[in-house]
Amino acid sequence: MTNTAAAPVSRFSPARTHAHLWSLPDGTGLHAPYGQLVIESGTGRVCCHLCGRWYVSLGGHVRRHGHTAESYREALGLCRGRPLVAETLSRSIAARQREAYRRSPELRAYLAVGQELCMTGQLATLAATAHTTSPSSELTRLRRASLDAGRATRAARRDRALAARLRDLGFNDLPGYLRHAHSTGASLRSMAKTTRLGWTKLRRELDAAGIATRPASRRVALTP
Ligand SMILES: [Zn+2]
Repeated sequence: MTNTAAAPVSRFSPARTHAHLWSLPDGTGLHAPYGQLVIESGTGRVCCHLCGRWYVSLGGHVRRHGHTAESYREALGLCRGRPLVAETLSRSIAARQREAYRRSPELRAYLAVGQELCMTGQLATLAATAHTTSPSSELTRLRRASLDAGRATRAARRDRALAARLRDLGFNDLPGYLRHAHSTGASLRSMAKTTRLGWTKLRRELDAAGIATRPASRRVALTP
């Protein structure tokens, strides 16, 4: 695979490096989005997150930044085992390896020795290239992360709004309000209305505040 080794190819497309549009939490500027390999359409070259240059394969190049392929993947949020080459290239490597395997009795015999394989790392190489990590799994992971972040932000906003409402009513915190409301005989409905909490959350908060409530009838029905 030496022909896929990293080689700067700026002479083919001068000034294709771009500015830091992204960054790591520690402020390190990135030339490509965290968690994604940016592939140049037409050439299939891959953008180095750290310097913005384009390479056929980042595997060898990232050593210049003091990384191994694995530590680079880890630092830039790429899936473990994700080949640091364009998908099409990685697929053609896998196809070549499968073809070589099919044609060569020696190779097949060699590959049959499982333990040997593990020791030489060949198995990992074959596994990584044969079952190429789908870029969609990275996308899925990113989408999930951004959904989670959005959810956390909305939850924090709701918490702040609730705290403000309770302060207006003269309570320092939710348990304080719930205990007071309960002692005055307020209904769950009115507590839900004041706090704008859903039933499940309200019941959980009541439990946490040490206030016994009637179990929801549905829950009773489900109890064996
Ligand atoms: Zn670089």
